Amino acid sequence: MSKFSKSETYNYTRRLYRLLKNHGDQITFRKLRGAYGVCDEDGDIVIDISRGQTVATLFHEAAHFWNQDWEEEDVERFEKRIMQSLTTRQIRNVLKSLGNIL
Ligand SMILES: [Zn+2]
Repeated sequence: MSKFSKSETYNYTRRLYRLLKNHGDQITFRKLRGAYGVCDEDGDIVIDISRGQTVATLFHEAAHFWNQDWEEEDVERFEKRIMQSLTTRQIRNVLKSLGNIL
């Protein structure tokens, strides 16, 4: 599986920051049974931060939010690709902007 280009990765991080900023009220944090996160058809997202994998889960649920027609395996492929593509600095910045809505 190939990484996203630098500019594709940058664009996905921008989209994620926008999602956190504009739809932060649709994102909640609590423990879940049998899942790291969920995104329902209304775009309401729950992330279980007690499991770790927070950035991967965030991008996973964001991919469901952006692409309601994607199959689970498409979302999983996106999650793996974006996690391979992000720099350490980008991961730090995602965590910082997540901190604003925790
Ligand atoms: Zn999923």
